[in-house]
Parts: sequence; structure tokens; C-alpha cells
Amino acid sequence: MRPASLFIVFIVICHLELGLPSSCRAETSTPNFIIIFIDDMGYGDLGCYGNTTTRTPNIDRMAAEGLRFTSFYTSCPVCTPSRAGLLTGRYPIRSGLTRVLFPSSKDGIEDKEWTLAEGLKERGYSTACIGKWHLGHLPEFLPTRHGFDSYFGIPYSNDMDLVQRAEPPLPLMRNEAIIEQPANQDTLTRRYTEEAVGFIEAQKDQPFFLYLAHTMVHVPLHVSPEFKGHSASGLYGDVVEEIDWSVGQILAALERLHLDEKTLVVFTSDNGPWLIMKDHGGSAGPLRNGKGTTFEGGVREPGIFRWKGTIAPNRVTDEPAVNLDLFPTFLLLSGGTLPENPVLDGEDIRGILLGNGHRASQNFFFFHRENLQAYRSGDWKLKRASVEKTVNEPDLLPTMLFHISDDISEKNNLADKFPDRVKQMEQEMQAFEASLGDLPPGKR
Ligand code: MG
Repeated sequence: MRPASLFIVFIVICHLELGLPSSCRAETSTPNFIIIFIDDMGYGDLGCYGNTTTRTPNIDRMAAEGLRFTSFYTSCPVCTPSRAGLLTGRYPIRSGLTRVLFPSSKDGIEDKEWTLAEGLKERGYSTACIGKWHLGHLPEFLPTRHGFDSYFGIPYSNDMDLVQRAEPPLPLMRNEAIIEQPANQDTLTRRYTEEAVGFIEAQKDQPFFLYLAHTMVHVPLHVSPEFKGHSASGLYGDVVEEIDWSVGQILAALERLHLDEKTLVVFTSDNGPWLIMKDHGGSAGPLRNGKGTTFEGGVREPGIFRWKGTIAPNRVTDEPAVNLDLFPTFLLLSGGTLPENPVLDGEDIRGILLGNGHRASQNFFFFHRENLQAYRSGDWKLKRASVEKTVNEPDLLPTMLFHISDDISEKNNLADKFPDRVKQMEQEMQAFEASLGDLPPGKR
């Protein structure tokens, strides 16, 4: 919810301000937005990111018809904070949503947070949340209280139904009511897709924002009977291929309804693959480690943007960006302006999307819970020394400096070779921490 004193004074942005090609102007003043947000999908799970086993023709086509990022980051490498960052445009440390919420949690996103859905509603958009929410399951925290006109999905992760933790069977909700318990997980990807297509069809004549946050490919893996044994890469591949089918259905609906040139579609993941799940977890491709870590495997995600007629096809960019950037970028594209308060960490990336500019800052901060653990600045990444238990790493990790543009696999620790750079980047991290000021306590 946004304090009245902070209201956006909205303006009609002239198309020249957007820097759009003249042929696109009539179609792009108020684009629709669709975010397809996958849970725990790795950087190496898609054909367009180098996977040679699992078939993802629809996602690959989406990339071919638009812009594919090679350095698109999440705001945090686990579920709840990643979503908090995406929907507020602010590092999760600012909202206190730094940790994964459970069915026993009493916390969630607070009213004072201003979500992307609320911002777009102010601009006249219809808004729908379909899929996994995970920003609090109690009524005051649900999507319908934070800017979404409707909600269909599960309120937290699909593995949070453990009897030994006294967790209830997994609920499936419509708006604020449980309509099925336990949710039939085999049908979730299909039903989410049908809901999404239905929403698009119903809203085809007015601007809309669809946040489609799939439950899959988070474990336990579930798939429709038609996709069982569908892939050459086991159950995980089957689940990815059903997600790919889902993307195909969304794109087909846009084409059928002549919304291709009026709709910006973004495909990304909340965090990297859950490697301890072995063949039920995804692949980080060339990246080091996965979910829950601030190595690239945890924080660098697939990032695909498609907007026919505005984003040129067949583009690949190495310019880094982060899911925090969707908030300001979408608000500006909707004709709104950005608030001075609250502080946004996301930045306008219209220049990258349109190919005529850059992200103003090349700095990205990576937290593990409440701790700032890593920092990318341009070509360089510093990872502070830490003690953590993760796969394929020693428990005690030293200070690491990588030339991340040349070494995306984080193989060559250059900290000893460039002590001055380590010192400078450490100072910049401390300055950022100091700038955060008083912060709310972490939510559980
Ligand atoms: Mg996740």
C-alpha cells in the first residue's frame, strides 16, 4: 500500500521520451505486462541457454523473438525474498522479507510496501496473480490485499506439507478461500495455464498485468500425465517441458488475440537450481553452485524479454540487470513516474530492452538472509568470506574476487592478486550497508 503523500503524479509520457521507434509508438503507450516466474529453474535448463537434452522450443522461440540476457540476476537466491524484491523493486532487506516463510509463519508483506501490482492498478491496469505467492499466507498478506484483483494458486512452497512439522496439506486458493486441500499438484501447471489464458482473453481490451508464478520446477516434482516420460531427461525434464508447453499456450493466446505487439512478456526464475535434490533439481549450466548461495548459480537466472514490434528479435545482451528492475521499468512504460520515497533499488532498463541505452548503475548487491555477502560492480564480483554449508564447497569460504565478465564459472579467485580492488569493493559494500539505515527485523 502506498502512503497518500507519496502518490505518483502520473503523466502521459511522450513517446519520444521513451525513445521508441516511430513505427511502434501507437502500440506501446500502455503495454500489457506478463511475468512468467519459474521456481528453482537453473541457468542451464533451457535450450536457448545451452541445454541439449530437454526440449524447450516455445521458450527458445520466445528468446528468438526478443531479447535474451546472459546476466540477469535475482534479488535473492531463495523463494520469499526473491519475490519480495521482484514485486517491490527493493532489496528484500528493506521489507524484512529476507527469509523463507513457512506455514507456521505469522509474517508476510506489510501494507506499507508498495507493490508493482498496486502501482499498475493506479495506472488503470487489471491485475492477476496466478501460482505460488510466498509473501505470507494469512489473509492480510495475500495477493488480493496487495494490488491483485484476483488470485489462484498455492500460498507457499509445494513441499511445505510435512506432517513432522505439523504442516497442513497443501492448500490451493482462489482469492482468499481454500478451494482444494491437498492441491492436486499433477494438474497445477495445466490449471495455472488455463487460468492465465482465461485472464488474458477476458482482459484483451484493456491494459493488464499478469504475474504467473509457477509452482514448478520446485520439488516435489509433479507433471500432467501427458508429460510423464515426455522428455529425454527424466521427471525434471518432463516438468520443464510442461512449463515450456505453458509458455507456448500464453504466446499463442497473445497471437490469437492480436496482443503480441501490445504485451511485454518476461520469463525468469526466482533462484538457481536446488542442487541437493540431484536429478530432481535443475542445472546451473556453466555457473558455480546453485540455490541458496550467492555464487552465480544461485543468483544468475534465465532472463528473456519479448515484445514484438518494440524489442528487436534475435538479440542477446551481456548487460547485467536484476529482477528489481522490472518495477521501475514497468511503471515507466505504463506512463507512470517513479516515487522519491520509498527508495527503489531497481533501475530503468528500457534502454537495454530497446537497444538504445544502458542501466545507469552497474552495481548489484547479493544478500544471504540479512547479510550482504557478494557484490558485482561492472566486470568484477567480490564475495566476502563466509561459513556456509553448501554442496561441492568447503564450509569455510575465503574472500573471493572474480573478473565475472570473463569468468562466469567463478573458477579463478583473484583476491590475492588485486588486494586494492578487494579493499575498494569492500568499502563500497560497507557504504551500501550504511546507507540502508534503520531496517525492519527479519520476518519469519
Ligand atoms: Mg525458489
